[in-house]
Amino acid sequence: MTGLGRTTAVALVGLTGHVVEVEAHLAASVPGFTLVGLPDASLAESRDRVRAAVASSGVAWPQRRITVNLSPAALPKAGAAFDLAVAVATLAGAGVCDAGRVAASTHLGELGLDGRLRPVRGVLPAVAASVAAGRPDVVVPFGNLEEARLVPGADVVGAVTLRDVLRRHGADLAPDDDVVPVPAEHVGPPRAGCADLSDVVGQEDARWALEVAAAGGHHLLMVGPPGTGKTMLASRLPGILPDLAESEAVEVTAVHSVSGTFRPTDGLVRRPPFEDPHHTATPAAVVGGGSGLPRPGAASRAHRGVLFLDEAPEFSPRVLQTLRQPLEQGELVIHRAAGSARFPARFQLVLAANPCPCGRATGKGADCSCTSLERRRYFSRLSGPLLDRVDVQVEVLPVTRVHRASAGTGESTAAVADRVRTARERARRRLTATPWRSNAEVPGSWLRRQTGVPVGALDQALGRGALSLRGVDRVLRVAWTLADLAGRDAPGHEEVGQALLLRTRGQVGA
Ligand SMILES: [Zn+2]
Repeated sequence: MTGLGRTTAVALVGLTGHVVEVEAHLAASVPGFTLVGLPDASLAESRDRVRAAVASSGVAWPQRRITVNLSPAALPKAGAAFDLAVAVATLAGAGVCDAGRVAASTHLGELGLDGRLRPVRGVLPAVAASVAAGRPDVVVPFGNLEEARLVPGADVVGAVTLRDVLRRHGADLAPDDDVVPVPAEHVGPPRAGCADLSDVVGQEDARWALEVAAAGGHHLLMVGPPGTGKTMLASRLPGILPDLAESEAVEVTAVHSVSGTFRPTDGLVRRPPFEDPHHTATPAAVVGGGSGLPRPGAASRAHRGVLFLDEAPEFSPRVLQTLRQPLEQGELVIHRAAGSARFPARFQLVLAANPCPCGRATGKGADCSCTSLERRRYFSRLSGPLLDRVDVQVEVLPVTRVHRASAGTGESTAAVADRVRTARERARRRLTATPWRSNAEVPGSWLRRQTGVPVGALDQALGRGALSLRGVDRVLRVAWTLADLAGRDAPGHEEVGQALLLRTRGQVGA
């Protein structure tokens, strides 16, 4: 007697889910168990887990020749998320449960040897893919239930064990009431900058630079000695950025679902995330990678938010180099033997650096022990493609006594966020007929074509060699943001002059 069982699962490539057909054929022949269409080594292990989990569920393993086929075969399949689908298709084919009910649902989940269902990463985009393919009924591990429920139109069931799933599909098995669900592992939730700007003492210039960066979406460089509050300032940038649009929120949540850094009880991620990898971070930690289902790195987890590199020149040149691709294309591609995974990575970059390797070259720099060669080398690590994209540079100086006395009187995050929102709306209205939405995205050629902007000072700086053509473009970009903040239709002399100052105050790569 032969049997046939079928269901669907989902393979994730980057953030894109592809529905996979899982078909089990059971033939009355020499017993065996073959999985077809699984190029990834982890799927061979899946065979052993499935057998052990079935035995732990109190179900006899069918003594037939079993062939389970996952198609399309060419699709790169990684991770253990196919275990549950393989098990239920096989047992449906053996008549243990109702084949019709099994076929009607998508099954996601890894099986433990004890038969418990282990949560998997990327449930949000996987369930969304099943719904989009016209298969809204999805069975997920209990630990993934809250996350799966965030997908509109999904009809989700959370199961604790394989036995639990089989019972729902009509198997005649006793319930296993006292089994504890395996909780989803969350490395840590995406952090929104929740601390308030009013805690930042003094630092009027740096606060202003932060506001301008937020209003125009500009990348920012802060240069100053240790202990001047650069980290404090950077971590407050997400707080003054506007809420994510609905489509952005879905995308950002999917990134964190795949990375395992998403706390589903908080619902969709609606605030810009903040990521601050340490300067010892490896390229993989920043870009993403890992075996099986690749994990997005810090640059992707910062998508639609802020990527902060403290002591930026201390990062390895390889890490700094890898940031070029996301800065240019807004995404990261992870190449694999089985194909490449794409993760979105459109972040606002904030770099912090000491004024020199020893950190004391501030003011007259009398205490600094670095040679001029050492200083040049220090900043040269940031030069070129990276700094070319940083529109706003600011020097962060040690706080004076007067400033200290005014502690706590700084403007609040809410007040600054209000101005940022208004300025961004103004920019969006102005750019409505263009492909760009913020000033930071506008290319130089377009900026230079705009008439009526007083560029005399820039022509002079260009003529003296004090500014490159790219430098001019960056000044113009910031000048438009200053005009947006001032509620003006176009930048005037004042905005161009201020933008020039914001460009050169850090005095790095001007
Ligand atoms: Zn020094």
